[in-house]
Amino acid sequence: NLDQLAEEISQASDYEEIKSIVDKMIVETKALIKSGKRLQNRMKISSDDLKQLQTELEKSQMEAQTDTLTSLVNRRGLEKKFEIERIRARQNNSSFTVVIIDIDHFKKVNDRYGHLVGDSLLKSIAKLLTSQIRKNDIAARFGGEEFLLLLPETGLEGAKAVGEKIKTALATKEWKIKDSGKSMGKITVSMGIALYKFNEPEKMLLKRADDALYMAKQTGRDKIVTQDEITQ
Ligand code: GH3
Ligand code: MG
Ligand code: MG
Repeated sequence: NLDQLAEEISQASDYEEIKSIVDKMIVETKALIKSGKRLQNRMKISSDDLKQLQTELEKSQMEAQTDTLTSLVNRRGLEKKFEIERIRARQNNSSFTVVIIDIDHFKKVNDRYGHLVGDSLLKSIAKLLTSQIRKNDIAARFGGEEFLLLLPETGLEGAKAVGEKIKTALATKEWKIKDSGKSMGKITVSMGIALYKFNEPEKMLLKRADDALYMAKQTGRDKIVTQDEITQ
């Protein structure tokens, strides 16, 4: 329409005619501005939608990597973390350790006090682990009553020290059943520790930690064994 009016105005001969064309042009221009604004609004809404979708996606990805009972990283999340640590180790020419922690005689807790008390104990231990590690360390729920710590830039001795700290914290805490206040007695754990060897697959590293844990269980529980102490 504006094109056509521009054509008309070039051929107009008197003032009245020009004025009428200019009036029409003003109306057309206003309408154009209005529809431009509407379009802009629509685009704004859709980019807000996009942002919301992005947030929801990130949230569900996060949830997929989190254990629902303890809120720790789950097995799936751990794989991602492991990949990150492998890359970090390569870039910094450094290493990291894994500590597998298994609760001693956990089955007895379930048998004596019920599954719900068992669940609540798992939650408390998860919280205790988180409170004993550094910001960059990762605590994961590795299996039913097994946890795993991923300790960046940490050797076997350092990891063992973290393990001892956790054992002390467990030993000094009073374990009580929430409802009755009754004591659950001592809760102890066994740990197996392994150091990442450059470029090795996750499976091999975990196997060494698991072998060390097995030895801790075999030799009396409530103890920490590193890969260097495995004898068999
Ligand atoms: P050990 O000292 O040899 O590790 O003995 P244990 O009793 O801890 O080990 P075992 O593997 O015999 O039993 C593990 C128990 O953990 C059995 C299973 O019912 C319990 N368990 C696993 N996952 C959960 C869970 O999510 N909640 C509860 N309440 N119990 C669980
Ligand atoms: Mg176990
Ligand atoms: Mg156990």
